[in-house]
Amino acid sequence: MRGLLIVDLQNDFCEGGALGVDGGNAVAEGVADFVASHAADYAVIMASRDWHDGDNDNGGHFAAAGKEPDFVTTWPLHCVANSAGAQYHPLVPMGSIDHHVKKGQGFPAYSLFEGTSDGGVKVADLLSGAGIDEVDIVGIATDHCVRATAMDARALGLRVRVLEDLVAAVQPETRKTAVAEMEQAGVSFEHSK
Ligand SMILES: [Zn+2]
Repeated sequence: MRGLLIVDLQNDFCEGGALGVDGGNAVAEGVADFVASHAADYAVIMASRDWHDGDNDNGGHFAAAGKEPDFVTTWPLHCVANSAGAQYHPLVPMGSIDHHVKKGQGFPAYSLFEGTSDGGVKVADLLSGAGIDEVDIVGIATDHCVRATAMDARALGLRVRVLEDLVAAVQPETRKTAVAEMEQAGVSFEHSK
């Protein structure tokens, strides 16, 4: 059985957001089209949101006041719980999503597998409960949260495909490293069409 994991398709990670990635809006558009025609291919569709505390630095994830973020381990303020930036991109196909996952409440969490559903269930348990043995991954960003999600999925023994036209990266250099790392771990990259 196959699942679709939609990673962090949130306003703050798209153009105009606090941590906007080039191509984010195009990914949202592509994912909306893809799900409209392929939802039936998936036993489970899950979407994650980065969902940080607003009153602390979330375990050093937010750059300290007055310090420049390094865009590797420290970041500008983003995806504060309940803020407009933390909401899903308006094109996210809400009606097709079976489980909404939140992660990063008070600590850095790149992988969707670090989150829990709104019902408080761990992602790995939701997937195994649904008999999922392979997942397709789309979303933002290839070099961070998509990478971490793909690596965790492989560590759980799932077959993993990243739909390469439905992801966007923060930086070309880190994208390259991340793709190499994922391929090394057995992740395959395929076009959605
Ligand atoms: Zn974050």
